[in-house]
Amino acid sequence: MQRLDNVIAGKRKPSASKRTAPVFNPATGEQTAELPLSTAAELGDAVAAAKAAFATWSVTPPLRRAALMFKYRDLIEKNAARIATIISQEHGKTHSDALGEVQRGLEVIDFCCGIPHLLKGEFSRNAGPSIDTHSDRQALGVVAGITPFNFPIMVPLWMFPVAIACGNTFILKPSEKDPSASMLASELFQEAGFPDGVLSIVHGDKEVVDAILAHPDIKAVSFVGSTPIAEYVYRTGTHTGKRVQALGGAKNHMVIMPDADIDKAADALMGAGYGSAGERCMAVSVAVPVGEEPANRLVEALAPRVRALKIGPASDPDAEMGPVVTGDHLRKILSYIDSGAAQGADLVVDGRGFKLQGYEKGYFLGGTLFDKVTPQMTIYKEEIFGPVLSVVRTKSYADAVGLINANDYANGVAIFTRDGDAARDFADRIEVGMVGINVAIPVPVAYHSFGGWKRSIFGDHAIYGAEGVRFNTRLKTVTSRWPEDIKSGAVFNFPTLG
Ligand code: NAD
Repeated sequence: MQRLDNVIAGKRKPSASKRTAPVFNPATGEQTAELPLSTAAELGDAVAAAKAAFATWSVTPPLRRAALMFKYRDLIEKNAARIATIISQEHGKTHSDALGEVQRGLEVIDFCCGIPHLLKGEFSRNAGPSIDTHSDRQALGVVAGITPFNFPIMVPLWMFPVAIACGNTFILKPSEKDPSASMLASELFQEAGFPDGVLSIVHGDKEVVDAILAHPDIKAVSFVGSTPIAEYVYRTGTHTGKRVQALGGAKNHMVIMPDADIDKAADALMGAGYGSAGERCMAVSVAVPVGEEPANRLVEALAPRVRALKIGPASDPDAEMGPVVTGDHLRKILSYIDSGAAQGADLVVDGRGFKLQGYEKGYFLGGTLFDKVTPQMTIYKEEIFGPVLSVVRTKSYADAVGLINANDYANGVAIFTRDGDAARDFADRIEVGMVGINVAIPVPVAYHSFGGWKRSIFGDHAIYGAEGVRFNTRLKTVTSRWPEDIKSGAVFNFPTLG
């Protein structure tokens, strides 16, 4: 069985750790690899190599850094199908879905190819008599990233290309559930010609995360994952003086106004609710129809679509949805469905009995649809992260906005309507970071930035785009006087133009 290695100072380095974790193929339930759960000492080795590399990488001209990013971008593009295959084998998502995440990650590298322009500073001539001032943004040092299972390539690509283009060196701790896409990304990174030590990979679990949070030479940490861990990483990392951006979980709503085209809204809900088996932080898990009659029509439109979902392994080109990531996660989702039924929600489509012939040991379940869910129910309050869509009926537009604004999570939200006034009002009033108007999954493009509000993010910066550049750099402002015409005699007043 394959045992994965760390990548330190540009070389694959087997971990000496005795602790390991299994990696599974979720379609078959077979173990495909063994992952070392690295030690704090191994993290220390990676930090030392990254710190050494920073000395020259941080002063490498941005144009040269961009030239390497262009090469890297081409290599990722050429290897997109290979990366997608690896993702599907460990995550379970369909091949086309995996290709989609490679593409969205690639777009972040595209953005980073423009780094010389993004790092350009500001200049003020004659800020005072013969005094000029310039400001620019400089790299932080060694930066680390901790990533979740659900986007094994896209989320790492949200982080390290931006940090590295800015002149930092980077240590990635991928999800222990599907780490192999990161390994290929790092191989291609070396092939592009980046110097050794600029990107390192250290596999592991809480032990390595805690070592990252405690290490004095790591200046910033980007985290994406569930809300409790995001909050822990933010609190612990900032306590040790690091800059931290920690993106957490979600409960994303989609409002369906009475004037919306119900068929189109139902189609959009299918992709947004059941695509990637609901394991997306931007998945819509709550449909909020406004009014009884539109709600009845929506549930009538959704039920046959959910029953007809094509579920299969990634090798089936017709599959619309694959298995969920692990057996533990499958059991957790099943218990949420049990609780929804027990707490009185109307279980319109029950995915619990689903079995796929030939894949009986895989982590498959059917699409599930609940109607008449109330905000008090556990399936509404908690993130299920599976193919389970809840319909919460509301009487009015104001009730729908009130429901969403009362929710602790605030990652993404959507409204489907033909009414421009309602759409505009919604965009203004809704307390959520990413809003879609007739767009069910409003993931911002690479030159905007991604980030929710409230308990979907901890820290002041969204990820990638201009916010990513700000997070990964610090401002320096230089004030200089040329020619030197300083008058004799000390001045004790605060300096002013006069
Ligand atoms: P997770 O929080 O379990 O794991 C994320 C990372 O944290 C992993 O690398 C893991 O090894 C590490 N980790 C886990 N437990 C830890 C602990 N006790 N101490 C320290 N580190 C720990 O998340 P997941 O299950 O891999 O991913 C799914 C979650 O991520 C969902 O909640 C989803 O909404 C969220 N997510 C959010 C975004 C976003 O942009 N907001 C994007 C993708 C996923």
